Amino acid sequence: MKWCTNCGTEMADSDRFCANCGTPAPQQETQQQTPAQNTVIPEQQPVSTAPQQPAYVESQAPAAAPSNDVPNGGLNFLAFVLPLVGLILFLSMKGSTPVKAKSIGKWALISFIISAVLCVLLIGLIILLAVVAMSSEYYYYY
Ligand SMILES: [Zn+2]
Repeated sequence: MKWCTNCGTEMADSDRFCANCGTPAPQQETQQQTPAQNTVIPEQQPVSTAPQQPAYVESQAPAAAPSNDVPNGGLNFLAFVLPLVGLILFLSMKGSTPVKAKSIGKWALISFIISAVLCVLLIGLIILLAVVAMSSEYYYYY
């Protein structure tokens, strides 16, 4: 139910013009509201689809990253044999390919530890041999 904005005559909802004075019915207001609502809905739809696109991109990114950023067996071996080279590789790669760099750094660290242990054992063995040789009477028979 609505009323003429000009003369106040009661009008049917379906009437487009006032039967009394011919003024256009205030239907325009409801017509303006409807497009306004329609413009809000299309705005909501891109918003609702927008989070889906980054989510799709994010799901692609981990799939694309491993092709670049995977532990390299050859470089790991190089880092194990030459820990200093491994350290340099680790420092240069940790920005771009952190997974690969971390793997190289891990093998360089293992190599460092093994080298240190072997070094201690070797020094211990030399000291032991020296002590045995100096205290052995077998030395004097030469
Ligand atoms: Zn009227």
